[in-house]
Amino acid sequence: MDCPYCGEWNLEGTRECECGYLFEGYEEVVEAEETEIRARSRTRQMVGWGLIATGVLLSVGSFFLSSSFGGTRFLAFTGVILAGVAMLFMPARR
Ligand SMILES: [Zn+2]
Repeated sequence: MDCPYCGEWNLEGTRECECGYLFEGYEEVVEAEETEIRARSRTRQMVGWGLIATGVLLSVGSFFLSSSFGGTRFLAFTGVILAGVAMLFMPARR
């Protein structure tokens, strides 16, 4: 975007031009969006880690308590872990 003061081109999201002009109005919008995205990704991360922790606990527990059940339950709990990992690495949407 162009600086309204000196006309110099600045990168999108730049908060201050080289001439010292502050893109104040623009800054507020950007910060509000960033805060919202951060809050959403934090929630996603908590859900993701929760799923992973649950999956790990269930699979470890089933492994030690009921190894006679074989591998099917273990695989099901691994699915829960994978769902948690997917939550963590899926891109945050607006
Ligand atoms: Zn400028």
